[in-house]
Amino acid sequence: MPKINPDRLLADLRELRRYGACGNGVKRQSLTPVDLESRQWLLEKMRAAGLDASIDAVGNVIGRSPNPGPALLMGSHSDTQPEGGWLDGAMGVIYALEIARALNESADSSHLALDIASWMDEEATFTHFVGTRSFCGLLSEEDKASATNADGVSLADALKAAGYDQFEPARLDLERHIGYLEAHIEQGAVLEADSKRIGVVTAIVGIRSYVLRFEGEQNHAGTTSMPLRKDAGMALFKFASALDEAFREIAAANTVWTVGDARLYPGAEAVVPGVAEMKLQFRDPDDAVLDRFAARLEEFIESFNAAKPVQVSITYARDPIRPALMDESLQQHIVDAAERHAPGNWKRMPSGAGHDAQVYASFLPTAMMFIPSIRGVSHSFEEDTNEADIALGCQVFADAAESILRSRLG
Ligand SMILES: [Zn+2]
Repeated sequence: MPKINPDRLLADLRELRRYGACGNGVKRQSLTPVDLESRQWLLEKMRAAGLDASIDAVGNVIGRSPNPGPALLMGSHSDTQPEGGWLDGAMGVIYALEIARALNESADSSHLALDIASWMDEEATFTHFVGTRSFCGLLSEEDKASATNADGVSLADALKAAGYDQFEPARLDLERHIGYLEAHIEQGAVLEADSKRIGVVTAIVGIRSYVLRFEGEQNHAGTTSMPLRKDAGMALFKFASALDEAFREIAAANTVWTVGDARLYPGAEAVVPGVAEMKLQFRDPDDAVLDRFAARLEEFIESFNAAKPVQVSITYARDPIRPALMDESLQQHIVDAAERHAPGNWKRMPSGAGHDAQVYASFLPTAMMFIPSIRGVSHSFEEDTNEADIALGCQVFADAAESILRSRLG
């Protein structure tokens, strides 16, 4: 059995944090100087672990096992939000490195093939899932030219400045890769609230995002009597409040919905707003639930427009993201390993956040594992996880990877 080395694992995580460290957290956005340095560090770590490591055309750092396949692919991301935690993504990358080493160091597993990676720009500094989409052949040259960061620099130019554009793009190899595995911190507080130490992910939620535009009539806030008003602002608040109640009645156990933005125009104290806009998003692991929410929203808009002086129209804020189901057989290997190392201390759960794994799920069997986040905090310098949980998760994931590979070798 592979035996992970918790001290080496934690030392590597702390060493990676030094690139962009900010207190307990990290600032390491994609293709910034510290991100490039950290990729070079990771490349050398992978080589030292005996992997054939390289950086590809979009900056993916990939360590390929010299063993013949079938191989498992395991990874996550090492880029961060503008103000990120030290474990978000980084933990899954260093787990993969440690598990590759542990498999090599154990005589009975050194023949198994684990290919590992840090995927570029999961946090969408330029655009979403750059590394995984490129690896799956879903990122075009136009995508690279049109995606820009907050400073207006295109992804294509940033890759060129980094010198990555001269490298070959690495690609998923379905002759070799039999599955994709990713470990991640939960970034929520479900495991902590349930006193569980391992989460076995069942699905990554689908997302529907909309812009709702309310059109009334802009007018003087002192002289326009209440019966004569067509107040787009009040209409928005009433609509949002009633919709919240209606959604409660049809929600499934894991459905979440958010009005993340609301604006009134022209936005002045003495003006009845003529236009108001809100951004509405809902998420669920089941597409049927998302359809139910979308239908309820449509009904709401119809009856609102029939009855009120203010009219509401709706457009997608971005293309819907479909839920990504995790492979049941791979999940079972994680469950078995969790039960061995933490009996009764694990649970199945959906992921409310997006992850690289959702891209892989449409190409090959895919699974994810979570470990607890203290108080559920993430995308923050305060993000943290108990060291004992970090070590336990890595051993569980190592066992799961080994048993998956053994089962495929027959
Ligand atoms: Zn992440």
